[in-house]
Amino acid sequence: MSTVLDQPRVEELRSLLRGDVITPSDAAYDRARRVYNAMIDRHPALVLCCRTVADVVAAVEFAREADMRLAVRGGGHNGAGLGAVDDGIVIDLSGMNGVRIDPEARTATVEGGAQLGDLDHAAHAFGLATPAGIISTTGIGGLTLGGGHGYLSRKHGLTIDNLLAADVVLADGSLVHASEDRNEDLFWAIRGGGGNFGVVTSFTLRLHPVSTVLGGPTLWRLEEAEDVLRWYRDFQPAAPEDVYGFFAFLTVPPAPPFPEELQLQKMCGIVWCCTDGAEAERAFRSAADVAEPALHGVQEMLYPSLQSAFDELYPHGDQWYWRGDFVKDIPDEAVRIHVDYAERMPSMQSAMHLYPIDGAVQRTTSDATAFSYRDSNWSMVIAGVDRDPANADALRDWAIEYWEALHPYSEGGAYVNFMMDEGQARVQATYRANYDRLARIKARYDPENLFSVNQNIRPAT
Ligand SMILES: Cc1cc2nc3c(=O)[nH]c(=O)nc-3n(C[C@H](O)[C@H](O)[C@H](O)COP(=O)(O)OP(=O)(O)OC[C@H]3O[C@@H](n4cnc5c(N)ncnc54)[C@H](O)[C@@H]3O)c2cc1C
Repeated sequence: MSTVLDQPRVEELRSLLRGDVITPSDAAYDRARRVYNAMIDRHPALVLCCRTVADVVAAVEFAREADMRLAVRGGGHNGAGLGAVDDGIVIDLSGMNGVRIDPEARTATVEGGAQLGDLDHAAHAFGLATPAGIISTTGIGGLTLGGGHGYLSRKHGLTIDNLLAADVVLADGSLVHASEDRNEDLFWAIRGGGGNFGVVTSFTLRLHPVSTVLGGPTLWRLEEAEDVLRWYRDFQPAAPEDVYGFFAFLTVPPAPPFPEELQLQKMCGIVWCCTDGAEAERAFRSAADVAEPALHGVQEMLYPSLQSAFDELYPHGDQWYWRGDFVKDIPDEAVRIHVDYAERMPSMQSAMHLYPIDGAVQRTTSDATAFSYRDSNWSMVIAGVDRDPANADALRDWAIEYWEALHPYSEGGAYVNFMMDEGQARVQATYRANYDRLARIKARYDPENLFSVNQNIRPAT
């Protein structure tokens, strides 16, 4: 790969792009190169801030001709920092964040650089929503292309199960439409296969009538955690699809609305999102029967409020190291391991979450889209998080040791959006039987592997 930029070509690119072309000598460079995870510190040669589809076409053509590594950034939230690359080119889509709602058809057309909060804001005005993640600053782009799970997934599936169509700029600079009846192989691949196939400039998503939910946490002291987790592992898969709760080990933040006596206590909890009041009350009573909660902070709230409830706790610029796995069962031995590592969480923001992916997610088969673990019940993430770079090693060591202890109880692969740079075998384990088909589709749409700064699917030879 060459890293020497052809300056006249860069000047020509400036005249082609509506957005900025940022080089290391520009004042805006330091901000433009940064991603959400401050553990990632990369220095691209160029950041191309695209504002239009034409910008994206010009940027892709430039990167291909320059023969430089290319990273595509949606929301920049990827833990492994896949929205940045050393000495290469970054296509930054954050200026393309428009959302258009069709309330009659119940669809949203979302530009490739929009954040979850942009979609929630626009759809909520019409009492509509679709499943996506739990922090509103996450990019729709990376989240959707990896699968996308969130509070509404037990009822309405993964984000990709609600994807109706996408516009994609391919490696050769052409713009194609992908849906069930156009470029079907590409449409299959982008539903879980990540950013391997091109730059998605627009996603069309199905929306559902969701306006308010019963949301918030129930918390228990860590001494109750074994009983609560054993109850939860049996309760959640059998619960109605209107009752969603992700299980968490956490440290109570040192701020209101949390009572002072709980602040900075390590605890376990369930964060609920329920769309049926009567079923929710039954679930809360059943949970309280297991052990007396230290806090039951559930209330009726606007769906976008729940979607952004953790934003302040997880701002841009923290150190992140995470590991994930898909989980079907949580035997007693795994419960004990969980509690052991929860007691040793290395910082206030560090956590373990078990996100349910049963219910509606399992009504689609594992070969119907690239996302291949639909027979699992949870997508687990162990996240070491802290503001202070001096704690980076402690975060990493805790997350890796915890993950290694639990991995034998997992299904073998992880959600592609919860992976660090873990090697090709882990990428293959993510896709299992779908990997070979993905590699063939990659060979058709990106034979030279221009889109390689991702959990990379190598083109079949
Ligand atoms: C705090 C936090 C909470 C999270 N919670 C959830 C959750 O609840 N549910 C969940 O499913 N995931 C969750 N995630 C994981 C999240 O889905 C991934 O981090 C995802 O990669 C973020 O997408 P992004 O666009 O912000 O990332 P980026 O770093 O911008 O991109 C990630 C990857 O996607 C590619 N990409 C992004 N946009 C495009 C595009 N338009 N076209 C082509 N390729 C593109 C990039 O090239 C890169 O390979 C969470 C992450 C964080 C940090």
